[in-house]
Amino acid sequence: MKANCWMGKKKVEVRDVPDPKILNSRDAIVRVTSTAICGSDLHLYNGFIPTMERGDVLGHEFMGEVVETGSGVKNLKVGDRVVVPFPIACGACNMCQRDLFSLCENSNPNAWIAEKLMGHSPAGLFGYSHMLGGYAGGQAEYARVPFADVGPIKVNGLPDEQVLFLSDIFPTGYMGAEMCNIQPGDVIAVWGCGPVGQFAIASAKLLGAERVIAIDRFPYRLRMAAEKAGATETINYEQESVLERLLELTGGRGPDACIDAVGMEAHGHAAIYAYDRAKQALMLESDRPIALREAIMACRPGGVLSVIGVYGGFIDKFPMGPLMNKSLTVRTGQTHVQRYLRPLLDRIERGEIDPSFVITHRLRLEEASEGFEMFLHKRDNCEKVVLTA
Ligand code: NAD
Ligand code: ZN
Ligand code: ZN
Repeated sequence: MKANCWMGKKKVEVRDVPDPKILNSRDAIVRVTSTAICGSDLHLYNGFIPTMERGDVLGHEFMGEVVETGSGVKNLKVGDRVVVPFPIACGACNMCQRDLFSLCENSNPNAWIAEKLMGHSPAGLFGYSHMLGGYAGGQAEYARVPFADVGPIKVNGLPDEQVLFLSDIFPTGYMGAEMCNIQPGDVIAVWGCGPVGQFAIASAKLLGAERVIAIDRFPYRLRMAAEKAGATETINYEQESVLERLLELTGGRGPDACIDAVGMEAHGHAAIYAYDRAKQALMLESDRPIALREAIMACRPGGVLSVIGVYGGFIDKFPMGPLMNKSLTVRTGQTHVQRYLRPLLDRIERGEIDPSFVITHRLRLEEASEGFEMFLHKRDNCEKVVLTA
């Protein structure tokens, strides 16, 4: 089959690789009909996630048709259309029983590597480094889905484009908003208007936020935030001071909750950006937490910091004093996607949201490399690329 493979820093290539096979009784094989490129893939593309190997099949946002099931998969049959969540979860371990699916204790065969770096290992993820399981991803014609009796959700009737993002970015944005514990009248600020930020904004509105302030530097992304996702105000951080503007917009108090939908490769100005870039280049710091620091400084006392942007390792100049003295609550995590599939599919079916609003580019799987470049460099006002087989 054809699959999009990581071939080193800034290089992906669609190559011929062996077809996936059923390895365990709870596996299913899915023929991928739609897949997407995620901001998380850019961290791999840019070489910031360790333990990638040449030839690894990328992709963790995908859906398709079940073409084969192992003997232990009773709830799916050949021909079913399914969306597959990006964390792989067994459904039975202590973490899964607590609905913390992205922390499944049984799905990462290489847990020891992650344990060295983080103390414990999160779940295995599709197409996301050997440290997180070394699973082949879904930017391919076919994918092997472990624990297929737990993860995938059947979808009927709705087109791929409306349900594909249940695999990751819609639940991720939703969890980001849910972690804010939104109360009537709340003002939520969202750093980053990439696809994840857009769903955080839309979800904050769905969950009852009175105002949602979107922050980025690309006018077309800010426009989408306002016109499609429902942001009530936007801030272009290249044109004005985010901290000053947020105070001004909130009567001097600051947002009730701040969502970081940017992550480890934040962009910025001034000395601190040069500092983080230099330390990152020398591998003395793994991540550039520019939006994170700003969110901590901006948040009102007693507020919530919700971090859905991905971080890989260790950061410098973390404002622990402000975090502590302002009694902020920090909530974060890889998304426990399985928890959100049913309720969010219901919202799509009820017409409360049409997640396809983020799609700007539709390419063929063979054009994956072009898609990565376009998404990375924001060419042609690229927001989200969907690949079809
Ligand atoms: P993206 O790269 O398209 O979006 C990032 C946006 O942040 C860009 O629009 C960029 O201009 C903006 N940005 C950069 N620096 C900024 C700053 N200092 N202030 C404000 N905005 C800034 O990617 P995406 O697909 O939207 O993903 C966003 C993040 O979410 C990534 O880190 C990704 O890995 C992460 N993610 C997390 C999960 C999870 O499970 N928690 C799931 C999916 C994606
Ligand atoms: Zn993703
Ligand atoms: Zn589990």
